[in-house]
Amino acid sequence: MRTAVLVLGIVLLVLGLAGGGIGLAVSNSDVATYNSRCLGLFPPSGCAAVASEASTFAFVALLGGLLFLVGLILTIVGAVLKPEGAEATRVVVQPVYSAVAPQIPQSYSTPPGQLSSSLTSQSNQKEMFCPACGTHYPLGTQFCGKDATPLKEMV
Ligand SMILES: [Zn+2]
Repeated sequence: MRTAVLVLGIVLLVLGLAGGGIGLAVSNSDVATYNSRCLGLFPPSGCAAVASEASTFAFVALLGGLLFLVGLILTIVGAVLKPEGAEATRVVVQPVYSAVAPQIPQSYSTPPGQLSSSLTSQSNQKEMFCPACGTHYPLGTQFCGKDATPLKEMV
């Protein structure tokens, strides 16, 4: 329905523009011919025909202008209303939003779980120490950095 209104509007727009343009051009040239030939005291024969043609094509130009206006209004109405287009965009937007929304709480719930598990493992962690100089090292270190003595695990 909207497409039909839009197409009709554009067709009327083009027809009105063409008709108005042709009517205006012919009537203008007829008026020019009349003005150059028939304004003397004794006008030659055919001046009445030129005058009537000028008025006929002036009417065609007016009709074309009206057709153009109607076409313009139809095109604007067809472009503004678009009930099908608006409905389609609303349907497309909703699933995209609902697909994105559940992902937000998921990504926020993961880091606290990891943080608490790393905290509990850290509190149970033992340290290493050097029996020669007494320097403390993190668990996993095997030799002292100062004197290369094998480290022992703290109890
Ligand atoms: Zn040491």
